Amino acid sequence: MDYRGIFEDAVDSLRAEKRYRVFADLERIAGRFPKALFRDEADNAREITIWCSNDYLGMGQHQTVIAAMQETAGRLGVGAGGTRNISGTNRPLVELERSLADLHRKEGALVFTSGFVSNEAAISTIARLLPDCVIFSDQLNHASMIQGVRQSGMQKQIFRHNDVAHLRELLAATDRKRPKLICFESVYSMDGDVAPIKAICDLAEEFGALTYIDEVHAVGMYGERGGGIAERDGLMDRIDIIEGTLAKGFGVMGGYIAANKSIIDAVRSYAPEFIFTTALPPALCAAARASIEHLKTSQTERAMQQRQARLLKAMLTDAGLPVMETDTHIVPVMVGDARQCKAASDLLLEKHNIYIQPINYPTVPKGTERLRITPTPLHSDEMIFALRHALVSVWTRLELPREPADAAITASKLTSGDLTLPNFGG
Ligand SMILES: *Cc1c(COP(=O)(O)O)cnc(C)c1O
Repeated sequence: MDYRGIFEDAVDSLRAEKRYRVFADLERIAGRFPKALFRDEADNAREITIWCSNDYLGMGQHQTVIAAMQETAGRLGVGAGGTRNISGTNRPLVELERSLADLHRKEGALVFTSGFVSNEAAISTIARLLPDCVIFSDQLNHASMIQGVRQSGMQKQIFRHNDVAHLRELLAATDRKRPKLICFESVYSMDGDVAPIKAICDLAEEFGALTYIDEVHAVGMYGERGGGIAERDGLMDRIDIIEGTLAKGFGVMGGYIAANKSIIDAVRSYAPEFIFTTALPPALCAAARASIEHLKTSQTERAMQQRQARLLKAMLTDAGLPVMETDTHIVPVMVGDARQCKAASDLLLEKHNIYIQPINYPTVPKGTERLRITPTPLHSDEMIFALRHALVSVWTRLELPREPADAAITASKLTSGDLTLPNFGG
């Protein structure tokens, strides 16, 4: 049996479809965010600017956060020492969960090793504990939520992206007596659009459903204290389970849910993804908590991020580049072709020392390949001018489409035939 050949063929088929992924070898420079050293295949290093980081506020390099991690590692050491059950629950982790419960004004919170794991564990466990439950899941939900839905083994109904009328239809067609769980995101990371949270909560109330929201791309960044879009819109109390990550806006690592005590206790007691894995190390918990607490009171990072996002969108639109309109900090620039998208990304790195990774299928639908730009509070106006110049030059050289109408076939315009589209974004 040619085992090696089987693996190579599998990867070759990705290459043939232009879906083979290459990772950039980057070394971030603490204190100089968003600058990093890039090493090419010959290991030659040069300085570049990162324009696609999910460390959305640069908190991964914030002095207070770094200090919390260093100080705690010095005092408590590095590892957690076991699962939460076997000597792994540590003081900083307990404090982190309190900080998160307070952030979302919920009775409790539960921390997992990643946002991915928190979605998979929480959705599957909650649904399994509800007898004969039906899960209503947005068509563009993240791979980790899809995984949770699958893992639960419960019946699922996929509603068209952000389509409240379709969700209502599906809810109305379901036996009133069956438990229902509606799973959706607040900010969708590839199109940067926002869910109609209030309308979904109204439906949940009308049909007696639980609501589960993934605020991964919003926590730290929206709301008076960084509680996300639900906080901004005054809707946190209408959501039963709020899920978030400690790795993006908060700049560290780990995932969590916040909910009432009964839900937290049930997931804590039943989810294998929580029970049978080593807890997050104390230093990491302390760093995450420092980041959350900082962002509860500081508006500077949020305000600057919004300012730089507005400036960037205006500059790129003005330069005739096909920027997809969004209400958030996410700025997609449409290319519409996998090979061209990769070529644009390569050119930006080679000629302009700018790193923006290409976003291709299956993360986004075919024909909507794009560069996904994430301006942060630490991208200066000069960096924005340099990015515009670089993009214009790449667009000219590759003769890429300029009209948003040509390329911006947004995911929301997909027909129901595409409902099974896998989404591996993140
Ligand atoms: C990145 C992402 C996750 C997973 O969070 P991690 O902490 O990176 O594992 C979950 N949901 C969405 C929408 C994401 O984009």
